[in-house]
Amino acid sequence: MAAAEVARQGEGCRTVPLSGHVGFDSLPDQLVNKSVNHGFCFNILCVGETGLGKSTLMDTLFNTKFEGDPASHSQPGVQLKSNTYDLQESNVNLKLTIVSTVGFGDQINKEDSYKPIVEFIDAQFEAYLQEELKIKRVLHNYHDTRIHACLYFIAPTGHSLKSLDLVTMKKLDSKVNIIPIIAKSDAISKSELTKFKIKITSELVSNGVQIYQFPTDDESVAEINGTMNAHLPFAVIGSTEELKIGNKMMKARQYPWGTVQVENETHCDFVKLREMLIRVNMEDLREQTHTRHYELYRRCKLEEMGFKDTDPDSKPFSLQETYEAKRNEFLGELQKKEEAMRQMFVQRVKEKEAELKEAEKELHEKFDRLKKLHQDEKKKLEDKKKSLDDEVNAFKQRKTAAELLQSQAQQAGGSQTLKRDKERKNNPWLCTE
Ligand code: GDP
Repeated sequence: MAAAEVARQGEGCRTVPLSGHVGFDSLPDQLVNKSVNHGFCFNILCVGETGLGKSTLMDTLFNTKFEGDPASHSQPGVQLKSNTYDLQESNVNLKLTIVSTVGFGDQINKEDSYKPIVEFIDAQFEAYLQEELKIKRVLHNYHDTRIHACLYFIAPTGHSLKSLDLVTMKKLDSKVNIIPIIAKSDAISKSELTKFKIKITSELVSNGVQIYQFPTDDESVAEINGTMNAHLPFAVIGSTEELKIGNKMMKARQYPWGTVQVENETHCDFVKLREMLIRVNMEDLREQTHTRHYELYRRCKLEEMGFKDTDPDSKPFSLQETYEAKRNEFLGELQKKEEAMRQMFVQRVKEKEAELKEAEKELHEKFDRLKKLHQDEKKKLEDKKKSLDDEVNAFKQRKTAAELLQSQAQQAGGSQTLKRDKERKNNPWLCTE
């Protein structure tokens, strides 16, 4: 027995030769047929300032006119506009979603311009994760909206990257495959373009921005991808206008001094971009999105939720155990919160009771004060009444005495008059008063 076979047997697997055709060599074809029947989806995010030619480039790339009016420069903030189209080429169906940043770079304060983009990308990952976590998942029918490629449009300034570009790319590089492109590259001369590309590349490296590298691990595309990686960032021109050049109709832009051909590789890198993005690496972009960017999002999200693969002793954690642990932790926290709320409630009640007692005491004091005041007043009035009564009595007594005196006086007065009349009669010389 060969050594390799022994080793495989040791692993519980043995190689046996087939004596005739069985048919499982058609497995790749089965996969292809299934995929073709099912259709594909591809989602592109175009990030760049308004007017850099994002819509025009999309129309040029897919050889069609997608809907949409030109955006204005007066947007108060950055918004993401998403449109999905069903495309067909030969017998292959493609659900293409194009997302564009409306208003990017139009505000005076651009500090938070990257946020809506990051939130949008995360929202698509979250939607996929939620679908994955469902008990009844329908991932085979699910419209995957995760962004597979981010075309980052750089203005053809010929200088260096704007800080807005660096900040935005840095924030996005762990979430999406970034393919930087120099937009409207007909606005820059050939020598300036070479220097500009070198400058951009060195700035990206020095700022640690990870851009998408076309994969070189697959032999069939390693060479072309390796060469194309060296051409990044691609300098592109967009136009849907067809002009007759020689005896051929070509997509081009016409200027007073001549014509720029979009698909001429000596004029720009449009063909390189189309080859790399659509013809060679579309599947790798989809795969990278799932295995690298989504995986990272999923891992962080699950860790945030408390899921781990191993416990502190490096033993594997089961989902059930993690769930139980998280549940207990949650219940403990809930109990703590409940207790704290109860304590707070008791404390509040005590405080309120003390407040009420204080108010009651104040009321009592006030009542006592008023009562005393009232008693004093009453006593004063009673004293006054008593003295008035005394005065009335004294007056009455004096009155009675006066009346008595008066009547006595009257009586006495009457007898004296009689006596004097008698005396006058007896003595006529006695004068009267
Ligand atoms: P968006 O706001 O980024 O979507 O930009 P548009 O695609 O609406 O293009 C804005 C203007 O730039 C239009 O007038 C286009 O004709 C023009 N444009 C688009 N691509 C190019 C290009 O490669 N070179 C030049 N010179 N102009 C372009």
